[in-house]
Formats: sequence, structure tokens, C-alpha cells
Amino acid sequence: MKKTALIFGAGGFIGSHMARRLKVEGYYVRGVDLKYPEFSPTAADDFILGDLRDPHVCQNVLDRPFDEVYQFAADMGGAGYIFTGDNDADVMHNSALINLNIIPLCVQQRVGKVFYSSSACMYPAYNQQDPDNPRCCEDSAYPAQPDSEYGWEKLFSERLYLSFQRNYGLNVYIARFHNIYGPEGVWRGGKEKAPAALCRKVAEASDGGEIEIWGDGRQTRSFLYIDECIEGVRRMMASRFSGPLNIGSDEMITINDLARLVIRISGKRLSIRNVPGPEGVRGRNSDNTLIRQVLHWAPKYPLELGMRKTYAWIAQQVEASRTAETAAALWEGNGATRRVCQ
Ligand code: NAD
Repeated sequence: MKKTALIFGAGGFIGSHMARRLKVEGYYVRGVDLKYPEFSPTAADDFILGDLRDPHVCQNVLDRPFDEVYQFAADMGGAGYIFTGDNDADVMHNSALINLNIIPLCVQQRVGKVFYSSSACMYPAYNQQDPDNPRCCEDSAYPAQPDSEYGWEKLFSERLYLSFQRNYGLNVYIARFHNIYGPEGVWRGGKEKAPAALCRKVAEASDGGEIEIWGDGRQTRSFLYIDECIEGVRRMMASRFSGPLNIGSDEMITINDLARLVIRISGKRLSIRNVPGPEGVRGRNSDNTLIRQVLHWAPKYPLELGMRKTYAWIAQQVEASRTAETAAALWEGNGATRRVCQ
């Protein structure tokens, strides 16, 4: 019999890649999201458009004992979305509501395994003040002090899933993702994250120009290529370790160096201008000690290779949207001429 999986957030970046992977592995996949995947057709067998804040929608989609449930749906975005404070109420309310709706249904429907995607943003800010020595091992979560409401909601939901494991025997798996990037991720519109935003800025810049970077650019991060994120989740789901577990790269880089890398990949001559902007903690890196221990595996895909693939994809998107804008302008121009002639 085919294994069955339900993916919440299947229209998003990680969820759409997971649907593809599970289909390759021979699963029957149902996806749910507010929207279809933006950049290619869904791989899911069955895709339901619905708002998971509505408990009736959740009941309708979680209507059988799926073997595996993947919970990626969340109200989230990059620094420009979660660190400005403008979206705090939505981020907390929407994401918490989705998790609160889903989790009792997983018990009711006797789901085999439930994966929850937490984030490195739940780690305490006080351990991430030194850009060269951030501390993000799994047991450093408490005393809690995430630097954003997004991080607090993730911490709350981690505890929610763990308490359902404790009290109702739900088989949960919790990973803390560290900055996942790659093709088919959001690259414009305000919800994009640093790698995609930098690729877009560089792709849009003219040779000899400059790009703006938020903050002094000396803040550090690590970035995990999407294929390795999916691989890590699949390995975790095949293990007996329920987490929380870091799934991230430990190849740390400053944001200015990341920008320099993208500029080098593009072959353009561009300078960097550091400007004030939302930037989050000073340093963050995935501590992969535990993942090596429990999965006998850790991500190793080099950042440069992943960024080359990501830049190529985003440069294509930028080019396609320019062509579409030019065509639209020409079309309008024709219309204007026609109106004048008539
Ligand atoms: P994404 O924004 O691309 O995907 C999330 C999806 O959830 C979106 O398609 C969105 O439409 C959907 N969604 C939001 N509200 C919904 C609602 N009310 N009903 C139905 N669908 C709804 O994000 P992603 O990068 O794919 O991230 C997936 C998960 O991983 C999220 O929970 C995120 O917090 C977590 N995470 C991601 C990263 C990263 O770097 N991408 C890092 C840490 C944690």
C-alpha cells in the first residue's frame, strides 16, 4: 500500500519541494495552502486551497489517518517582515491558530508521524550577540528570550507539539530550520529572505552600480540549501529522534561577504552600501553536534554552489519580469496610440 502524507503549507517554498520529494519516494500526497505554488505546478496528487485558521477547513483536509503530516504553514517572511514589528500580531495569531487547529486532529485521526517546522529564531538573543561565536545548540533554548514574536510563537508551538506527545502519545518530530534558501523561494514583495533579496538586488543592478545591505553587514548567519533541508527532514522522519533538532548549515558567513559572493557569481562590478534596516541578532549559526550524533549525517553542500543555483534562478525571474513589464508597457503604448488615432 502507498504511504500517505498531508503537507500543510504545500503552496510555499519548503512545502512544495517536500511534495516533490515525497512523490519521488512513491507517496500519495495531499497538499493544503492558501495558494498554489507560485513557480511551478504542485507535485501533490490532491491540492486543497483553504485557510487553516478555520477549524472546519482543517477538519475537512485531515479526514483520515495519514501516515505522515508535515506542518510548514505559517505566517512568516524574512527580516523585512518579522523584525519590523509591523506584522507581530498577525504572525503570532495566525501561526498559533493553525497549530492549535491541526494538532488535536492529528490525535483524533491517529496520524502516524507529525513533523513540525520550528525555527532558529526561537534561540535566546543573549546567546547571539557576538557575530563570531553565536551559541545555538538545542539545549540552549532556555531561559527563553527570542528576539522576535515569530520566535516566541515557534517556541510556544514546539511546546504545544511536545505536550501532545507527552499527554496523547502523538508521534511528533520537531526541527529548527536555519535560513533555508534555493530556487522557487520568495524573491520579492517583502517576505523574501537575505539570500534571495541579495540575488535580486544584484540581478537588478547595472554593472558599475551599488547595492544596499541592511545593517553594518558584519552580522553573521548560515544558510542551508533547500535540497539538504528536505534530506534532513526525511532522515529525521525515518529516525526515532523526535527533536527539537537543528537542521541548518554550519558554514557561517557575514552578510557583506554573502553579498560579495553573489556579486562575484554575477560577474558584475558592484559596490556595497550599508544602510539602516531590520537585521535581527548579531550572529547565528547552526550547531550540528546533535544532528551528527542522532542521524549520523549533517548538511555539507557548499554555500557557493547553492548560491550559484539560486542566483541563476533569480536572475531568470528578474529577466522574465522585465520582459513582461516591457511587453505590458508596449501594449499600453499601442492602446494610447490607438486612442489618439481614433
Ligand atoms: P513559505 O511562506 O514559503 O510557506 C508557508 C506557507 O504557509 C505559505 O505558502 C502560506 O501561504 C501558507 N500559509 C500561511 N498561512 C496560512 C493559512 N492561514 N492557511 C493555509 N496556508 C497558510 O515559508 P517556507 O520558507 O516554506 O517555510 C515553511 C516553514 O518552515 C514555516 O513554518 C517557517 O516558519 C519554517 N521555517 C522556514 C525557514 C526558512 O528559512 N525558509 C527557516 C526557519 C523556519
